[in-house]
Amino acid sequence: MQVHRSIFWFAALTVLLSACGPLSLPFVSQKQTPPDPLAVYRPALGAAFVMDDIDLTTVPRYQIDLSVDPVERQVQGVARITFRNRSGAPMNDVFVRLYPNLQHLVGSMTLTGVTTLPEHYAVGFGFTAENSAARLTLPQALLPDELLQLELRYTLAAPQYDHSSYVLFGESEGILDLPYAYPMLAAQTGLPTDPWRLDVPPTFGDVSITDPSLFWITATVPSEYKLVSSGVEISSTVTSTGAIEHVIVAALVPEWSMTLSRDFQRSQTLVDGVQLNSYYLTADTRAGEKALAQAAAAMRVYNRLFGQYPFAELDIVETPTRYLGMEFPGLNYIGLDTYRANDDSQELLVAHEVSHQWWYNLVGSDPARYPWFDEGLAEMSTLIYAETIYGPEVADRIRTLRWQIPVQWAVDHDLDEAVGQPASAFQPDNYETLVYAKSALFFDALYQALGRENFLKVLQTFLNRYRFQRPLPQDFLDVVTEVSGYDPMPLYEAWILADNTPNLPQ
Ligand SMILES: [Zn+2]
Repeated sequence: MQVHRSIFWFAALTVLLSACGPLSLPFVSQKQTPPDPLAVYRPALGAAFVMDDIDLTTVPRYQIDLSVDPVERQVQGVARITFRNRSGAPMNDVFVRLYPNLQHLVGSMTLTGVTTLPEHYAVGFGFTAENSAARLTLPQALLPDELLQLELRYTLAAPQYDHSSYVLFGESEGILDLPYAYPMLAAQTGLPTDPWRLDVPPTFGDVSITDPSLFWITATVPSEYKLVSSGVEISSTVTSTGAIEHVIVAALVPEWSMTLSRDFQRSQTLVDGVQLNSYYLTADTRAGEKALAQAAAAMRVYNRLFGQYPFAELDIVETPTRYLGMEFPGLNYIGLDTYRANDDSQELLVAHEVSHQWWYNLVGSDPARYPWFDEGLAEMSTLIYAETIYGPEVADRIRTLRWQIPVQWAVDHDLDEAVGQPASAFQPDNYETLVYAKSALFFDALYQALGRENFLKVLQTFLNRYRFQRPLPQDFLDVVTEVSGYDPMPLYEAWILADNTPNLPQ
Protein backbone atom coordinates (compact mmCIF):
# COMPACT_ATOMS: atom_id res chain seq x y z
CA MET A 1 0.00 0.00 0.00
CA GLN A 2 2.78 2.37 0.90
CA VAL A 3 4.35 1.87 -2.53
CA HIS A 4 1.15 2.90 -4.29
CA ARG A 5 0.74 5.92 -2.14
CA SER A 6 4.28 7.02 -2.90
CA ILE A 7 3.66 6.65 -6.66
CA PHE A 8 0.63 8.87 -6.30
CA TRP A 9 2.57 11.54 -4.44
CA PHE A 10 5.50 11.22 -6.79
CA ALA A 11 3.18 11.94 -9.73
CA ALA A 12 1.62 14.88 -7.90
CA LEU A 13 5.09 16.20 -7.02
CA THR A 14 6.28 15.84 -10.62
CA VAL A 15 3.32 17.88 -11.80
CA LEU A 16 3.99 20.50 -9.13
CA LEU A 17 7.66 20.73 -10.07
CA SER A 18 6.94 21.04 -13.76
CA ALA A 19 4.34 23.69 -12.99
CA CYS A 20 6.95 25.61 -10.97
CA GLY A 21 9.77 25.10 -13.45
CA PRO A 22 9.19 27.95 -15.92
CA LEU A 23 8.97 30.51 -13.11
CA SER A 24 12.70 30.21 -12.49
CA LEU A 25 13.53 31.21 -16.08
CA PRO A 26 14.48 34.83 -16.71
CA PHE A 27 12.06 37.13 -18.55
CA VAL A 28 9.11 34.83 -17.90
CA SER A 29 5.96 36.50 -16.64
CA GLN A 30 5.51 36.09 -12.90
CA LYS A 31 1.79 35.61 -13.44
CA GLN A 32 1.16 32.10 -12.14
CA THR A 33 -1.26 29.85 -13.92
CA PRO A 34 -3.34 27.83 -11.44
CA PRO A 35 -2.28 24.19 -11.18
CA ASP A 36 -4.17 21.85 -13.50
CA PRO A 37 -6.71 20.01 -11.29
CA LEU A 38 -6.73 17.16 -13.82
CA ALA A 39 -2.95 16.93 -14.06
CA VAL A 40 -2.43 13.33 -13.01
CA TYR A 41 -5.38 12.20 -15.16
CA ARG A 42 -4.32 14.03 -18.34
CA PRO A 43 -2.81 10.94 -20.02
CA ALA A 44 -6.38 9.53 -20.24
CA LEU A 45 -7.69 12.61 -22.03
CA GLY A 46 -7.20 13.24 -25.73
CA ALA A 47 -6.29 16.38 -27.65
CA ALA A 48 -10.00 17.01 -28.28
CA PHE A 49 -10.82 17.31 -24.58
CA VAL A 50 -11.99 20.77 -23.57
CA MET A 51 -12.33 21.63 -19.89
CA ASP A 52 -14.80 24.52 -20.35
CA ASP A 53 -17.29 24.67 -17.49
CA ILE A 54 -16.86 21.18 -16.02
CA ASP A 55 -17.22 21.43 -12.24
CA LEU A 56 -14.57 19.09 -10.86
CA THR A 57 -15.50 19.80 -7.23
CA THR A 58 -18.48 17.45 -7.51
CA VAL A 59 -16.65 14.67 -9.36
CA PRO A 60 -15.94 11.56 -7.23
CA ARG A 61 -12.34 10.33 -7.15
CA TYR A 62 -11.24 6.73 -6.80
CA GLN A 63 -7.82 5.48 -5.82
CA ILE A 64 -7.95 1.69 -6.07
CA ASP A 65 -5.23 -0.87 -5.37
CA LEU A 66 -6.27 -4.33 -6.46
CA SER A 67 -4.66 -7.64 -7.26
CA VAL A 68 -6.17 -10.28 -9.48
CA ASP A 69 -5.72 -14.04 -9.20
CA PRO A 70 -7.03 -15.12 -12.62
CA VAL A 71 -6.72 -18.85 -11.88
CA GLU A 72 -8.95 -18.64 -8.81
CA ARG A 73 -10.91 -15.78 -10.42
CA GLN A 74 -10.49 -13.66 -7.30
CA VAL A 75 -9.75 -10.00 -6.65
CA GLN A 76 -8.55 -8.38 -3.45
CA GLY A 77 -8.64 -4.64 -3.24
CA VAL A 78 -8.66 -1.40 -1.34
CA ALA A 79 -10.79 1.41 -2.79
CA ARG A 80 -10.43 4.96 -1.51
CA ILE A 81 -13.36 7.06 -2.65
CA THR A 82 -13.52 10.84 -2.22
CA PHE A 83 -16.87 12.49 -2.95
CA ARG A 84 -19.10 15.38 -2.00
CA ASN A 85 -22.60 15.29 -0.55
CA ARG A 86 -24.68 16.72 -3.37
CA SER A 87 -28.10 16.13 -1.79
CA GLY A 88 -28.51 19.55 -0.17
CA ALA A 89 -29.25 17.88 3.18
CA PRO A 90 -27.13 16.22 5.90
CA MET A 91 -26.37 12.62 5.05
CA ASN A 92 -26.11 9.79 7.57
CA ASP A 93 -25.80 6.96 5.08
CA VAL A 94 -23.70 6.50 1.98
CA PHE A 95 -24.37 3.77 -0.57
CA VAL A 96 -21.89 1.85 -2.68
CA ARG A 97 -22.89 -0.65 -5.35
CA LEU A 98 -21.58 -4.20 -5.24
CA TYR A 99 -22.95 -5.20 -8.63
CA PRO A 100 -21.21 -8.62 -8.87
CA ASN A 101 -23.61 -9.75 -6.12
CA LEU A 102 -26.57 -9.45 -8.49
CA GLN A 103 -28.04 -12.91 -8.74
CA HIS A 104 -27.61 -13.11 -12.51
CA LEU A 105 -23.94 -12.05 -12.41
CA VAL A 106 -23.19 -14.94 -10.02
CA GLY A 107 -20.27 -13.14 -8.41
CA SER A 108 -19.53 -12.48 -4.78
CA MET A 109 -18.23 -9.17 -3.49
CA THR A 110 -17.60 -8.79 0.22
CA LEU A 111 -16.58 -5.72 2.17
CA THR A 112 -14.01 -6.65 4.81
CA GLY A 113 -13.62 -3.21 6.39
CA VAL A 114 -14.79 0.37 5.86
CA THR A 115 -13.24 3.43 7.53
CA THR A 116 -13.23 7.18 7.06
CA LEU A 117 -9.97 8.86 6.06
CA PRO A 118 -7.73 10.24 7.36
CA GLU A 119 -8.98 9.35 10.87
CA HIS A 120 -9.73 5.67 10.16
CA TYR A 121 -13.00 5.79 12.10
CA ALA A 122 -14.88 2.55 11.60
CA VAL A 123 -17.99 2.72 9.41
CA GLY A 124 -20.74 0.17 9.93
CA PHE A 125 -22.33 -1.41 6.88
CA GLY A 126 -25.17 -3.68 5.82
CA PHE A 127 -26.44 -4.95 2.48
CA THR A 128 -29.50 -3.87 0.51
CA ALA A 129 -30.93 -3.78 -3.05
CA GLU A 130 -30.71 -7.59 -3.28
CA ASN A 131 -27.10 -7.42 -2.00
CA SER A 132 -26.11 -5.21 -4.95
CA ALA A 133 -25.54 -2.26 -2.59
CA ALA A 134 -24.05 -1.65 0.84
CA ARG A 135 -25.40 1.00 3.15
CA LEU A 136 -22.49 2.62 5.00
CA THR A 137 -23.58 4.32 8.21
CA LEU A 138 -21.33 7.27 8.95
CA PRO A 139 -19.99 7.98 12.45
CA GLN A 140 -21.26 11.55 12.01
CA ALA A 141 -23.52 13.19 9.44
CA LEU A 142 -21.95 14.48 6.23
CA LEU A 143 -23.11 18.06 5.69
CA PRO A 144 -24.32 19.41 2.35
CA ASP A 145 -21.41 19.99 -0.06
CA GLU A 146 -18.98 18.51 2.47
CA LEU A 147 -16.24 16.18 1.19
CA LEU A 148 -15.73 12.70 2.58
CA GLN A 149 -13.04 10.13 1.93
CA LEU A 150 -13.78 6.49 2.61
CA GLU A 151 -11.50 3.47 2.49
CA LEU A 152 -13.17 0.17 1.59
CA ARG A 153 -11.36 -3.15 1.74
CA TYR A 154 -13.01 -5.85 -0.33
CA THR A 155 -12.74 -9.24 -1.94
CA LEU A 156 -14.38 -10.45 -5.13
CA ALA A 157 -14.94 -13.88 -6.65
CA ALA A 158 -16.08 -14.43 -10.23
CA PRO A 159 -17.75 -17.52 -11.75
CA GLN A 160 -16.53 -19.83 -14.51
CA TYR A 161 -18.75 -20.91 -17.40
CA ASP A 162 -18.70 -23.52 -20.12
CA HIS A 163 -18.34 -22.68 -23.77
CA SER A 164 -21.97 -21.94 -24.63
CA SER A 165 -22.98 -19.29 -22.08
CA TYR A 166 -23.31 -15.54 -22.47
CA VAL A 167 -20.71 -14.20 -20.05
CA LEU A 168 -20.60 -10.56 -19.02
CA PHE A 169 -18.90 -11.16 -15.66
CA GLY A 170 -16.68 -14.20 -15.14
CA GLU A 171 -14.43 -16.53 -17.11
CA SER A 172 -15.06 -18.54 -20.24
CA GLU A 173 -12.85 -19.64 -23.16
CA GLY A 174 -9.72 -18.31 -21.44
CA ILE A 175 -11.11 -14.77 -21.08
CA LEU A 176 -11.88 -13.31 -17.64
CA ASP A 177 -14.34 -10.40 -17.80
CA LEU A 178 -14.18 -8.28 -14.64
CA PRO A 179 -16.43 -5.23 -14.93
CA TYR A 180 -17.83 -3.79 -11.66
CA ALA A 181 -14.73 -5.13 -9.84
CA TYR A 182 -14.69 -2.51 -7.07
CA PRO A 183 -17.29 -0.95 -4.74
CA MET A 184 -18.85 1.79 -6.91
CA LEU A 185 -20.26 4.90 -5.29
CA ALA A 186 -23.98 4.84 -6.09
CA ALA A 187 -25.12 7.64 -8.41
CA GLN A 188 -26.35 10.68 -6.52
CA THR A 189 -29.70 12.20 -7.48
CA GLY A 190 -28.88 15.64 -6.06
CA LEU A 191 -32.15 15.49 -4.09
CA PRO A 192 -32.54 15.67 -0.28
CA THR A 193 -34.98 12.77 -0.24
CA ASP A 194 -33.79 9.57 -1.96
CA PRO A 195 -30.31 11.01 -2.61
CA TRP A 196 -28.93 7.69 -3.96
CA ARG A 197 -29.83 5.57 -7.01
CA LEU A 198 -30.31 2.01 -5.83
CA ASP A 199 -32.00 0.49 -8.89
CA VAL A 200 -31.81 -3.28 -9.18
CA PRO A 201 -31.37 -4.01 -12.89
CA PRO A 202 -33.37 -6.81 -14.54
CA THR A 203 -31.40 -9.76 -15.91
CA PHE A 204 -31.81 -8.52 -19.50
CA GLY A 205 -30.84 -4.82 -19.00
CA ASP A 206 -27.61 -2.88 -18.50
CA VAL A 207 -26.23 -3.10 -15.00
CA SER A 208 -24.67 0.06 -13.66
CA ILE A 209 -25.66 3.62 -13.01
CA THR A 210 -22.86 5.83 -11.66
CA ASP A 211 -21.61 9.41 -11.95
CA PRO A 212 -18.58 10.51 -14.02
CA SER A 213 -15.50 10.05 -11.85
CA LEU A 214 -11.70 10.19 -11.79
CA PHE A 215 -9.77 6.94 -11.39
CA TRP A 216 -6.25 6.14 -10.27
CA ILE A 217 -5.90 2.35 -10.37
CA THR A 218 -3.01 0.10 -9.41
CA ALA A 219 -3.78 -3.40 -10.68
CA THR A 220 -1.40 -6.27 -9.93
CA VAL A 221 -1.77 -9.18 -12.35
CA PRO A 222 0.36 -12.28 -13.04
CA SER A 223 2.88 -11.47 -15.77
CA GLU A 224 1.56 -14.05 -18.26
CA TYR A 225 -1.84 -12.31 -18.42
CA LYS A 226 -2.65 -9.42 -20.72
CA LEU A 227 -4.74 -6.81 -18.91
CA VAL A 228 -7.18 -4.73 -20.98
CA SER A 229 -9.00 -1.92 -19.19
CA SER A 230 -10.74 1.41 -19.31
CA GLY A 231 -8.41 4.39 -19.20
CA VAL A 232 -4.70 4.54 -20.04
CA GLU A 233 -1.80 2.66 -18.50
CA ILE A 234 0.85 5.13 -17.35
CA SER A 235 3.37 2.64 -15.95
CA SER A 236 3.96 -1.06 -15.41
CA THR A 237 6.59 -2.53 -13.10
CA VAL A 238 7.58 -6.03 -12.06
CA THR A 239 6.87 -6.76 -8.39
CA SER A 240 9.09 -8.86 -6.09
CA THR A 241 6.86 -11.89 -6.84
CA GLY A 242 7.24 -11.45 -10.61
CA ALA A 243 3.73 -10.09 -11.14
CA ILE A 244 3.13 -6.90 -13.11
CA GLU A 245 1.85 -3.81 -11.34
CA HIS A 246 -0.12 -1.71 -13.84
CA VAL A 247 -0.86 1.91 -12.97
CA ILE A 248 -3.86 3.17 -14.92
CA VAL A 249 -5.70 6.48 -14.98
CA ALA A 250 -9.18 7.23 -16.32
CA ALA A 251 -10.85 10.63 -16.28
CA LEU A 252 -14.46 11.78 -16.21
CA VAL A 253 -15.92 8.38 -16.98
CA PRO A 254 -18.82 6.64 -15.21
CA GLU A 255 -16.96 3.44 -14.33
CA TRP A 256 -13.77 1.44 -14.75
CA SER A 257 -13.70 -2.06 -16.22
CA MET A 258 -11.11 -4.74 -17.03
CA THR A 259 -10.72 -8.01 -18.93
CA LEU A 260 -7.80 -10.47 -18.82
CA SER A 261 -6.51 -13.32 -20.90
CA ARG A 262 -3.25 -15.18 -21.38
CA ASP A 263 -4.09 -15.50 -25.05
CA PHE A 264 -4.87 -11.92 -26.11
CA GLN A 265 -3.12 -10.58 -29.18
CA ARG A 266 -3.26 -6.90 -30.04
CA SER A 267 -3.56 -4.89 -33.24
CA GLN A 268 -3.42 -1.12 -32.98
CA THR A 269 -3.76 2.07 -34.95
CA LEU A 270 -4.20 5.81 -34.46
CA VAL A 271 -7.54 7.38 -35.37
CA ASP A 272 -7.62 11.18 -35.32
CA GLY A 273 -4.91 11.08 -32.64
CA VAL A 274 -6.67 8.46 -30.48
CA GLN A 275 -4.93 5.17 -29.70
CA LEU A 276 -7.27 2.41 -30.91
CA ASN A 277 -6.51 -1.18 -29.87
CA SER A 278 -8.18 -4.44 -30.82
CA TYR A 279 -7.58 -7.43 -28.49
CA TYR A 280 -8.52 -10.93 -29.61
CA LEU A 281 -7.69 -14.59 -29.13
CA THR A 282 -4.86 -15.92 -31.31
CA ALA A 283 -7.26 -18.25 -33.13
CA ASP A 284 -9.39 -15.25 -34.15
CA THR A 285 -6.57 -13.04 -35.45
CA ARG A 286 -8.15 -12.27 -38.81
CA ALA A 287 -11.46 -11.23 -37.27
CA GLY A 288 -9.59 -9.28 -34.58
CA GLU A 289 -7.80 -7.29 -37.25
CA LYS A 290 -11.11 -6.74 -39.02
CA ALA A 291 -12.65 -5.51 -35.76
CA LEU A 292 -9.85 -2.92 -35.54
CA ALA A 293 -10.59 -1.66 -39.06
CA GLN A 294 -14.35 -1.57 -38.34
CA ALA A 295 -13.87 0.32 -35.07
CA ALA A 296 -11.49 2.76 -36.79
CA ALA A 297 -14.05 3.42 -39.53
CA ALA A 298 -16.83 3.91 -36.98
CA MET A 299 -14.68 6.29 -34.89
CA ARG A 300 -13.83 8.37 -37.93
CA VAL A 301 -17.53 8.67 -38.86
CA TYR A 302 -18.64 9.56 -35.33
CA ASN A 303 -15.73 11.97 -34.76
CA ARG A 304 -16.68 13.82 -37.91
CA LEU A 305 -20.47 13.72 -37.59
CA PHE A 306 -21.10 13.87 -33.80
CA GLY A 307 -17.98 15.44 -32.26
CA GLN A 308 -14.42 14.36 -31.45
CA TYR A 309 -13.89 11.53 -28.98
CA PRO A 310 -12.20 13.40 -26.08
CA PHE A 311 -10.28 10.48 -24.53
CA ALA A 312 -6.81 9.21 -25.37
CA GLU A 313 -7.58 5.52 -25.99
CA LEU A 314 -10.30 3.07 -27.00
CA ASP A 315 -10.01 -0.72 -26.71
CA ILE A 316 -12.13 -3.23 -28.60
CA VAL A 317 -11.93 -6.64 -26.96
CA GLU A 318 -13.21 -10.08 -27.91
CA THR A 319 -15.19 -11.51 -24.99
CA PRO A 320 -17.53 -14.42 -24.33
CA THR A 321 -20.64 -12.25 -24.65
CA ARG A 322 -21.48 -14.52 -27.64
CA TYR A 323 -23.30 -12.50 -30.36
CA LEU A 324 -23.76 -9.50 -28.08
CA GLY A 325 -21.53 -6.71 -26.85
CA MET A 326 -21.26 -4.38 -23.89
CA GLU A 327 -20.04 -0.85 -23.51
CA PHE A 328 -17.64 0.37 -20.86
CA PRO A 329 -15.68 3.61 -20.83
CA GLY A 330 -12.94 3.41 -23.44
CA LEU A 331 -13.55 -0.34 -23.65
CA ASN A 332 -16.05 -2.25 -25.77
CA TYR A 333 -16.76 -5.92 -25.29
CA ILE A 334 -17.52 -7.59 -28.63
CA GLY A 335 -19.00 -11.09 -28.54
CA LEU A 336 -16.65 -13.81 -29.80
CA ASP A 337 -19.35 -15.55 -31.86
CA THR A 338 -19.27 -12.57 -34.22
CA TYR A 339 -15.51 -13.19 -34.73
CA ARG A 340 -16.34 -16.68 -35.97
CA ALA A 341 -19.46 -15.94 -38.05
CA ASN A 342 -19.18 -15.32 -41.74
CA ASP A 343 -21.62 -12.41 -41.92
CA ASP A 344 -21.89 -8.68 -41.13
CA SER A 345 -22.85 -9.22 -37.47
CA GLN A 346 -19.42 -8.18 -36.18
CA GLU A 347 -19.29 -4.93 -38.12
CA LEU A 348 -22.74 -3.75 -37.02
CA LEU A 349 -22.07 -4.81 -33.43
CA VAL A 350 -18.77 -2.91 -33.44
CA ALA A 351 -20.47 0.17 -34.93
CA HIS A 352 -23.21 -0.03 -32.27
CA GLU A 353 -20.81 -0.52 -29.36
CA VAL A 354 -18.32 2.14 -30.47
CA SER A 355 -21.17 4.67 -30.68
CA HIS A 356 -21.85 4.06 -26.97
CA GLN A 357 -18.60 5.91 -26.31
CA TRP A 358 -20.66 8.96 -27.34
CA TRP A 359 -24.08 7.80 -26.03
CA TYR A 360 -23.30 6.36 -22.60
CA ASN A 361 -19.69 7.30 -21.86
CA LEU A 362 -19.53 10.92 -23.00
CA VAL A 363 -23.23 11.75 -22.63
CA GLY A 364 -24.28 9.67 -19.63
CA SER A 365 -27.21 7.26 -19.79
CA ASP A 366 -29.79 6.03 -17.31
CA PRO A 367 -30.25 2.35 -18.17
CA ALA A 368 -32.78 1.80 -15.37
CA ARG A 369 -35.27 4.58 -16.15
CA TYR A 370 -34.65 5.30 -19.85
CA PRO A 371 -32.96 2.23 -21.32
CA TRP A 372 -34.34 3.08 -24.78
CA PHE A 373 -32.60 6.45 -24.91
CA ASP A 374 -28.95 5.46 -25.38
CA GLU A 375 -29.80 2.16 -27.10
CA GLY A 376 -31.97 3.95 -29.68
CA LEU A 377 -29.21 6.51 -30.25
CA ALA A 378 -26.64 3.70 -30.61
CA GLU A 379 -28.85 1.93 -33.16
CA MET A 380 -29.42 5.17 -35.06
CA SER A 381 -25.65 5.79 -35.01
CA THR A 382 -25.17 2.31 -36.51
CA LEU A 383 -27.47 3.24 -39.39
CA ILE A 384 -25.70 6.58 -39.89
CA TYR A 385 -22.37 4.72 -39.94
CA ALA A 386 -23.62 2.23 -42.54
CA GLU A 387 -25.23 4.94 -44.65
CA THR A 388 -22.02 7.01 -44.59
CA ILE A 389 -19.77 4.07 -45.51
CA TYR A 390 -22.00 2.00 -47.80
CA GLY A 391 -24.82 4.29 -48.94
CA PRO A 392 -28.62 4.47 -48.61
CA GLU A 393 -29.42 0.92 -49.75
CA VAL A 394 -27.50 -0.65 -46.88
CA ALA A 395 -29.13 1.84 -44.50
CA ASP A 396 -32.52 0.71 -45.80
CA ARG A 397 -31.59 -2.92 -45.19
CA ILE A 398 -30.83 -2.04 -41.56
CA ARG A 399 -34.20 -0.30 -41.22
CA THR A 400 -36.03 -3.30 -42.59
CA LEU A 401 -34.10 -6.28 -41.24
CA ARG A 402 -32.82 -4.94 -37.94
CA TRP A 403 -35.76 -2.78 -36.85
CA GLN A 404 -39.05 -3.09 -38.78
CA ILE A 405 -39.23 -6.87 -39.08
CA PRO A 406 -38.44 -7.52 -35.37
CA VAL A 407 -40.91 -4.83 -34.25
CA GLN A 408 -43.61 -6.24 -36.58
CA TRP A 409 -42.91 -9.64 -35.07
CA ALA A 410 -43.44 -8.20 -31.57
CA VAL A 411 -46.71 -6.57 -32.72
CA ASP A 412 -47.90 -9.87 -34.26
CA HIS A 413 -47.07 -11.78 -31.08
CA ASP A 414 -48.79 -9.38 -28.71
CA LEU A 415 -45.46 -8.24 -27.26
CA ASP A 416 -45.78 -4.60 -28.29
CA GLU A 417 -45.88 -1.94 -25.57
CA ALA A 418 -44.66 1.58 -24.84
CA VAL A 419 -40.90 2.05 -25.16
CA GLY A 420 -40.81 4.90 -22.65
CA GLN A 421 -40.76 2.70 -19.56
CA PRO A 422 -38.11 1.67 -17.03
CA ALA A 423 -36.08 -1.43 -17.88
CA SER A 424 -37.84 -3.43 -15.16
CA ALA A 425 -41.23 -2.94 -16.91
CA PHE A 426 -40.20 -5.05 -19.93
CA GLN A 427 -40.10 -8.81 -20.40
CA PRO A 428 -37.05 -10.81 -21.48
CA ASP A 429 -38.82 -11.59 -24.77
CA ASN A 430 -39.62 -8.01 -25.79
CA TYR A 431 -36.88 -5.92 -24.15
CA GLU A 432 -34.40 -6.02 -27.00
CA THR A 433 -36.95 -5.57 -29.78
CA LEU A 434 -38.64 -2.57 -28.19
CA VAL A 435 -35.75 -0.88 -26.39
CA TYR A 436 -33.39 -1.18 -29.38
CA ALA A 437 -35.47 -1.50 -32.56
CA LYS A 438 -38.67 0.39 -31.77
CA SER A 439 -36.73 3.28 -30.21
CA ALA A 440 -34.47 3.27 -33.28
CA LEU A 441 -37.57 3.71 -35.43
CA PHE A 442 -38.39 6.83 -33.37
CA PHE A 443 -34.95 8.33 -33.99
CA ASP A 444 -35.20 7.30 -37.65
CA ALA A 445 -38.60 8.99 -38.05
CA LEU A 446 -37.01 12.12 -36.59
CA TYR A 447 -34.00 11.70 -38.91
CA GLN A 448 -36.29 11.60 -41.92
CA ALA A 449 -38.41 14.53 -40.70
CA LEU A 450 -35.40 16.79 -39.97
CA GLY A 451 -33.11 15.65 -42.76
CA ARG A 452 -29.59 14.37 -42.20
CA GLU A 453 -27.92 17.76 -41.79
CA ASN A 454 -30.33 19.08 -39.15
CA PHE A 455 -30.42 15.75 -37.33
CA LEU A 456 -26.63 15.76 -37.07
CA LYS A 457 -26.73 19.36 -35.80
CA VAL A 458 -29.12 18.21 -33.09
CA LEU A 459 -26.74 15.42 -32.07
CA GLN A 460 -23.75 17.77 -32.06
CA THR A 461 -25.53 20.36 -29.90
CA PHE A 462 -26.87 17.69 -27.54
CA LEU A 463 -23.41 16.13 -27.18
CA ASN A 464 -21.68 19.43 -26.60
CA ARG A 465 -24.19 20.58 -24.01
CA TYR A 466 -24.58 17.38 -22.02
CA ARG A 467 -21.13 15.77 -22.11
CA PHE A 468 -20.17 14.35 -18.70
CA GLN A 469 -23.80 14.70 -17.56
CA ARG A 470 -26.85 12.44 -17.54
CA PRO A 471 -29.55 14.30 -19.51
CA LEU A 472 -33.21 13.30 -19.66
CA PRO A 473 -35.07 12.45 -22.88
CA GLN A 474 -36.85 15.80 -22.54
CA ASP A 475 -33.47 17.57 -22.78
CA PHE A 476 -32.95 15.90 -26.14
CA LEU A 477 -36.44 16.87 -27.36
CA ASP A 478 -35.76 20.48 -26.33
CA VAL A 479 -32.52 20.51 -28.33
CA VAL A 480 -34.45 19.20 -31.38
CA THR A 481 -36.86 22.15 -31.21
CA GLU A 482 -34.11 24.66 -30.44
CA VAL A 483 -31.83 23.60 -33.28
CA SER A 484 -34.35 22.78 -36.00
CA GLY A 485 -37.59 24.52 -35.02
CA TYR A 486 -39.30 21.13 -35.45
CA ASP A 487 -41.76 19.89 -32.81
CA PRO A 488 -40.73 16.28 -32.07
CA MET A 489 -43.63 15.61 -29.65
CA PRO A 490 -46.02 13.92 -32.12
CA LEU A 491 -43.30 11.44 -33.15
CA TYR A 492 -42.20 11.00 -29.53
CA GLU A 493 -45.75 10.27 -28.41
CA ALA A 494 -46.37 7.86 -31.28
CA TRP A 495 -43.13 5.87 -31.03
CA ILE A 496 -42.04 6.17 -27.41
CA LEU A 497 -45.07 6.84 -25.24
CA ALA A 498 -47.92 5.04 -27.06
CA ASP A 499 -48.57 1.37 -26.31
CA ASN A 500 -49.13 0.48 -29.97
CA THR A 501 -46.53 0.85 -32.69
CA PRO A 502 -47.54 3.06 -35.65
CA ASN A 503 -48.17 1.13 -38.89
CA LEU A 504 -44.94 -0.21 -40.37
CA PRO A 505 -44.19 -0.55 -44.09
CA GLN A 506 -45.17 -4.07 -45.19
ZN1 LIG B 1 -26.15 -0.93 -26.84
